[in-house]
Amino acid sequence: MIPGDTHFLIAFAMVGALMSVMVALRYFLSSALFAGLTALARPGLYAGRQRQIASEIRHSMIAAIIYGVPAGIVFWLWRYHGYTQLYVDWNAWPLWYLPVSVVIYLIVQDSWFYWTHRAMHGSKRLFRLAHKVHHQSRPPTAWTAMSFHPIESITGAIVVPVLVFFVPIHLAMLGLVLAVATIMGVTNHVGWEIFPRRFIHSPLGYWVITASHHEKHHGDYGCNYGLYFRFWDRACGTDRGLSERLAQPAQSKAGFVA
Ligand SMILES: [Zn+2]
Ligand SMILES: [Zn+2]
Repeated sequence: MIPGDTHFLIAFAMVGALMSVMVALRYFLSSALFAGLTALARPGLYAGRQRQIASEIRHSMIAAIIYGVPAGIVFWLWRYHGYTQLYVDWNAWPLWYLPVSVVIYLIVQDSWFYWTHRAMHGSKRLFRLAHKVHHQSRPPTAWTAMSFHPIESITGAIVVPVLVFFVPIHLAMLGLVLAVATIMGVTNHVGWEIFPRRFIHSPLGYWVITASHHEKHHGDYGCNYGLYFRFWDRACGTDRGLSERLAQPAQSKAGFVA
């Protein structure tokens, strides 16, 4: 491990590089897992899309660096200086706070994403500059989850690193938040509905975003801006429901319907 008295700039570079490699690995493992599942569940869905997938991987590698650096700096400040609200003692806060902290993090992340995402669609210049890269994935694949322009990556990469300075969270619960972010990020772009049809049409599915909801955003653009929950979309009148193709039963044909 890096000695605690290392000059902070050298330490930031080292932990930033290490964390970037971890973010890239997390991306590769999760995307490869769901690409493999896609090959089994929907053979041929990504056929002929090698160029798109190569571009998604290239953009995701740059995004991994942008996500990794602030995460590494926060890790350093927590590990050696105790500056954050991260804790590891299970008794530091009441047990009921564990799930509450996860929900707070997810809601803040979701709200930030909704409004920054909507802002990027609200201006043609901003869209072309910062968000067009993500929408080059038409339709998205298991490799799209981190395919962002660097500007969009910065907006996404700062949320959790800022939150840990203000909202206490157990290290394991932070791991859970990151796991949810990873799995939902990949499954929302995978190009088919992983969740059972019964779930997406249930009262809970009415509020939770899955691939059926997000793929409609990739097809129609001006709607369905949320990340995890449909609350903001519903409250602001931007929810246009589910992708007709993905919300159909499993035997529906592969192919993109906007
Ligand atoms: Zn997307
Ligand atoms: Zn968008």
